[in-house]
Amino acid sequence: MSTSFQIAIDGPVAAGKGTISRLLAERLGFLYVDTGAMYRATALLALRAEINLSDEDRVVALLQKSKLEMRNPIPPKETDGRLTTVILDGEDVSWAIRTQKCGEGASKVAVLPKLRHVLVQKQQEIAASQNVVMEGRDITFRVLPNAQLKIFLTASVESRAARRHTQYLTKGTDVSLEEVIEEIKQRDQRDMSRDTDPLHITKDAWVLDTSELSIEAVVELIANKVTQLMQS
Ligand code: C5P
Repeated sequence: MSTSFQIAIDGPVAAGKGTISRLLAERLGFLYVDTGAMYRATALLALRAEINLSDEDRVVALLQKSKLEMRNPIPPKETDGRLTTVILDGEDVSWAIRTQKCGEGASKVAVLPKLRHVLVQKQQEIAASQNVVMEGRDITFRVLPNAQLKIFLTASVESRAARRHTQYLTKGTDVSLEEVIEEIKQRDQRDMSRDTDPLHITKDAWVLDTSELSIEAVVELIANKVTQLMQS
């Protein structure tokens, strides 16, 4: 049994998990762990090595011989809008993993059971010894089933697509809103229908719909809940 305080957050793509988790972690002094970044980094490795993303053994072998490190961004160089810093074999890939291609690739490698096993273990090790806000797709039921607080963060497809579209445009990726809606639907479908740990809402999770709420309001709501739980 872990002695750390664990906040587990799951939810579909572009529900605001990253921004909310980062702000919440800063406010509470917890470590923020973006597990999606690990799947994205794996996709980047496979894409660069030109390995088929469904070749499970080769993808896992590639990950295992690489060094993947994640940390809170260190100022001033790393405070450039990123939520987390990801270092792959010594190279800062924090932005390289944020492309549409890596996002799609991540959702493809995420269906591989052996890969999930390796990454889940890594995530559990991180959360065993420190207070964390960990977000992803299987945190509430696979990675941290005993978390003190479980949240399912969601929002309508339209508002998620609008957010993601703005992010792409800000980064200079020219893509239409319709394409983003389609991408989001496909990724939701893949996340919810895979055989290993499909995304779902656990009975003990607090379901928070962020469509009509500001980021700050959501952070405030969760922080208040954590304070209550820590005092009880
Ligand atoms: O959250 P983000 O969009 O960066 O995640 C990239 C992809 O990684 C997701 O679409 C999902 O398929 C996969 N993922 C996962 N389990 C997690 C985190 C992410 O399957 N815990």
